[in-house]
Amino acid sequence: MMNVPSPPSLELLRQIVVDASRALDLEDQVDCIVRHVHQAVQVAVCSLYLVDSQQQQLRLISTIGLNPEVAGRLQLPIDKGLVGTIASSQLPLMLDHASRHPEYQYFPQSGEQAFEAFLGVPIVYMGDTLGVLVLQDAPPRRFSYEDEAFLVTVSAQLAGSLLAWTQAPTPRTADSKIPRRINGIKGAPGVAVGQLHIIDSTIRVSAIDNPMLTEPEGELSRFHAAVALTLEELTDAHHRLQSLVSDEVLEVFDFYKLMLVSEELTSAPEQRIRNGESASSALSGCVEACAQTFENMLDPYFRARAEDVRHLGCKLSNALLGACASLPADSTDIVLTGELIGITDIAQYAPEQLAGIICMQGSALSHTALLACGLGIPAVMGTGTITGLMEGAAVAVDGHRGFVDLNPSPLLLKEIQQAILQQRGNEQQFQAVIDQPAETLDGFQVRLLANISLLADIDAGLARGAEGVGLCRSEFTFMVHPNFPSEEEQYQNYRHLLESYYPRPVTIRTLDIGGDKPLPYFPFQEENPGLGWRGIRFSLDNRPIFMTQLRAMIRASAGCRNLQILLPMVSRVDEVTDTLMLLDIAMEQLQQQGLALDRPKLGIMVEVPAAISLLQFFAPHIDFISIGSNDLSQYLLALDRNNARVSSRFDHLHPAVLHTLVSLLEQAKRLKLQVCLCGEMASDPLAVVLLLGMGIKELSMSSFNLPKIKLLIRNLKQGEARQWLQQALLLDHEKKIRALLTSALKERELGHLLSFGGPSG
Ligand code: PEP
Ligand code: MG
Repeated sequence: MMNVPSPPSLELLRQIVVDASRALDLEDQVDCIVRHVHQAVQVAVCSLYLVDSQQQQLRLISTIGLNPEVAGRLQLPIDKGLVGTIASSQLPLMLDHASRHPEYQYFPQSGEQAFEAFLGVPIVYMGDTLGVLVLQDAPPRRFSYEDEAFLVTVSAQLAGSLLAWTQAPTPRTADSKIPRRINGIKGAPGVAVGQLHIIDSTIRVSAIDNPMLTEPEGELSRFHAAVALTLEELTDAHHRLQSLVSDEVLEVFDFYKLMLVSEELTSAPEQRIRNGESASSALSGCVEACAQTFENMLDPYFRARAEDVRHLGCKLSNALLGACASLPADSTDIVLTGELIGITDIAQYAPEQLAGIICMQGSALSHTALLACGLGIPAVMGTGTITGLMEGAAVAVDGHRGFVDLNPSPLLLKEIQQAILQQRGNEQQFQAVIDQPAETLDGFQVRLLANISLLADIDAGLARGAEGVGLCRSEFTFMVHPNFPSEEEQYQNYRHLLESYYPRPVTIRTLDIGGDKPLPYFPFQEENPGLGWRGIRFSLDNRPIFMTQLRAMIRASAGCRNLQILLPMVSRVDEVTDTLMLLDIAMEQLQQQGLALDRPKLGIMVEVPAAISLLQFFAPHIDFISIGSNDLSQYLLALDRNNARVSSRFDHLHPAVLHTLVSLLEQAKRLKLQVCLCGEMASDPLAVVLLLGMGIKELSMSSFNLPKIKLLIRNLKQGEARQWLQQALLLDHEKKIRALLTSALKERELGHLLSFGGPSG
């Protein structure tokens, strides 16, 4: 009787995952998995195959038991043979007589004819097959179901980390000229091609452990000189950018300066120097401690500040070491690339020298992203560490979609360059329609409005033909502020916005924090933030904050009369009636102060399904509705809009969303409510076709997308949009709907409007 080993334990599984995660490169990791599994299951052969999706093949990467010579060389068709069958079906396969299976193929070079018992499981990540893990034994026998379960668990656990390696060639095998695509987060919109300029910030902060060079006094004066130099650089950079970006973006420099004189980055290193450490080592210790404090905070905005601390640390240590990271003064097409790119790195160059920015550890909330947006430089953030980079290598940055292409192949480069040309060509067409009405060929008029987050967006909206502001997300001003902004500070902001757009309407949404938009200085943790203390719920529970905001808005509208107030996340009628009561109080208080005021129009976001069901009860209290298609899709489909695992399923063209919108618009028409749509749908040309068909008259989107959508509307008939809508409503899948509309637009020679999406609306 054969000795069947007992099933591998959970502890062993944990050990494999831990060891594999410590691997230095892909080959190391794959060898580690194969070694562990081979030992745990005690079989003759354990092998791991990885999918080469470009070649449509499976490659044997590591084996124990087969001829080791073939590892790295044996390639199998992706859908043939036993391994191919597993890869294409994504199902495990267990056989006691492998050679009797119709798909069995014999590869003499592998020496595998001697093995009959076969168990293979696919390695799948987010629906894609990455590889296949195979066990084989000589005598015909069935593996146990415990072995199968173990293999399936190992594969599932390791899929994520294998993916990371397969996306990034490793030092052992890397040819630094190999084209590869690296995904990140959208930082600032635009597409560009340029040359890598690597800012090696992390090394400069952390790898410093200079021995004491002089007495503490000498070290202290070196440190103080470095602080003074950094301060000077910040002031210079501030001046250089003054005429190029808004005051709000420039405030970032003040934040940096404040940090530079903070206790953590000045007194603490001084103390350590007095205690005998070198200036460099004291600085690096304090920078790391301070960055870690930020990193440990729950709040994403504060966590993002760790980037700023580390960046300042780099600047200081550069100043200490007399290092200089800048390129020749006349370089162009520079793509600044590094673990951390700080605002002062950007400010070293004239904006026209910079083609793009790749910030490996950055977040979309970082000051780097903010500045890149302000300067119009495409940026991709949060790619994670990218290995094998070479100074000067060609790179394409796609800030619209959030990825970079390193060493793009001539073909891809051509495509990207065509896309850039197309973008420029489009831009010329866009400029031509900026002052034209958004009117279809058969005379249906749509009002196109801008979505605004920060004061920095005001001018862009006006320059790109916005007929008003459909959504001012007031929470962004709260998010970039160090504490709750005072009534006066808010008043100044709102006044500037209302005056800039006067007499066009401006819809300011009351604070919509919570969910994916937390406030740095008011942190709270929730199990399920998407369903928690969000929007109007938060405001009504924090009346002093709400009243301050309402008063500031109403005061700002004095004499302008173009303010409309919008309430987010409304799901109950009393949320509106309570707000109306507070509005009355605020109006009365201000009138008593002698201000002549008009009552602003009040509307609600329709983004929680409950608001649709209750629309008839809301109608008597409100003047308009604004459809938040992002949250409405999220809550209708029960899909978290920020969860990467389900993001491929998130689509506002899902049939359920479309049917809901059709009946919502019919209801709103009956109730004579003015309707705007201000979610991402308004920027998606395919969605806009359907919204036209539904008869929507107002759309609000990021300023970037305004001319594109206008051009689309001006080249369509509403009549044909209505027909496409009827056809789309008969389809049961968003992919079919997209296909239908894509071919319709291509037939009208409007396909070029589909290729580049702008930043989130
Ligand atoms: C929406 O939900 O569609 C919307 C416009 O609001 P936000 O994206 O700010 O949640
Ligand atoms: Mg919303």
